[in-house]
Amino acid sequence: MSLIHTTSQELFTRAQDSIPGGVNSPVRAFKAVGGQPLFMKAAKGAYLFDEDGNQYLDLINSWGPMILGHAHEVIEKAVRDALPGSLSFGAPTRREVEMAELIISMIPSVEKVRMVNSGTEATMSAIRVARGYTGRDKIIKFEGCYHGHGDSFLIAAGSGAVTLGVPDSPGVTKGVANDTLTAPYNDLAAVQTLIDANPSQVAAIILEPVVGNMGLVVPAKGFLQGLRDLCTKEGIVLIFDEVMTGFRLAKGGAQELYGVLPDMTTLGKIIGGGMPVGAYGGKREIMNSVAPVGPVYQAGTLSGNPIAMSAGMAALTYLNEHPEVYTHLQTITDKLVNGTKQNMQQLGLNYTINQVGSMFSLFFTEQPVTDFASAKTSDLGRFGKYFHEMLQRGIYLAPSQYETLFVSAAITDALADQYLKANLEALQATL
Ligand code: PMP
Repeated sequence: MSLIHTTSQELFTRAQDSIPGGVNSPVRAFKAVGGQPLFMKAAKGAYLFDEDGNQYLDLINSWGPMILGHAHEVIEKAVRDALPGSLSFGAPTRREVEMAELIISMIPSVEKVRMVNSGTEATMSAIRVARGYTGRDKIIKFEGCYHGHGDSFLIAAGSGAVTLGVPDSPGVTKGVANDTLTAPYNDLAAVQTLIDANPSQVAAIILEPVVGNMGLVVPAKGFLQGLRDLCTKEGIVLIFDEVMTGFRLAKGGAQELYGVLPDMTTLGKIIGGGMPVGAYGGKREIMNSVAPVGPVYQAGTLSGNPIAMSAGMAALTYLNEHPEVYTHLQTITDKLVNGTKQNMQQLGLNYTINQVGSMFSLFFTEQPVTDFASAKTSDLGRFGKYFHEMLQRGIYLAPSQYETLFVSAAITDALADQYLKANLEALQATL
């Protein structure tokens, strides 16, 4: 039942000549799971279609943005409607004001917001602002969290950095690395120790309030509130990186779900509806440090791009006005997770599954996964085999153990059944 991938293979051969590794973002290369990446041609709803005409049920959804499924009519219409205006003005537009107001109304802690073009830009800018605001240099991040490819974050980073075994990237200077302190996720005591060892030097603590980049890891009870209390006490800026979780786990993100408010929030993915967009925002007082009001410089030729704003506005407005999307996502993801547990029971397997809302990960380990160290107990060989068995059955998963899956609203009950049938067969094939 082997699928034909000849065209993808031809394109990959060509691509490797002209693009580093043949891809424009490392995890796409399938390095962690072996084999060759598939080249996609189109997508609609829950499905991806590759260059060889194969179709796949998509459980990545462009790594999060396509929460409503691919080629959603509301977003496509918004893009079409924006086209006759201009592709770019480089001047302020009404749409940017509406976008800022909408974000502020949806994300509980955000009082002012600046649009950028990616999650990486959002996090890089946020820590610069936190440093400028506090007059301190150091930041604390957590092992296995990924915050984009900014120099300060490529220390014990998750996602592609761990997948490819380059957690501490060449090209990051020692000076920059020295200003990034790391602690194990879910370990408040370790954070306290770092703060004590660096008195009045820590500008910010940045974290994924629910981690997607070492697989899905859930914040332990009290962890987020504990960080909130520490930051308040020590005058540290608490930054929730909600690039994945924003508008996904609830319309107000993880901060709404857990009822803990950060000082700053970084956003990406869903906020662009599939277009390249990011944003960072937070308390008015902190955001007033940003130029041209304050001295912290940050800018962007294409920031607030009209087409990207229209796509993003359409996505956010739809989510804001259709709370039933979140109910559906929860129900369908519960079904995928519970069904996988039943399949494992049937096969005598006892792997760990973590889930929050429409994000989940199956770890090929029997240990609870609560941080980077426990995530790394997963059997990567088994994961790779499982990945390819699923792909052969038309299910497109993230090609690394250290990534979460993202469920879209286009996944119906019947498609969930199809997933679970493939899951049972694929798990069996790994035995
Ligand atoms: N922060 C988090 C939590 C992310 O998951 C990512 C990307 N997956 C980023 C930041 C970087 O975003 P981008 O890839 O858009 O630069």
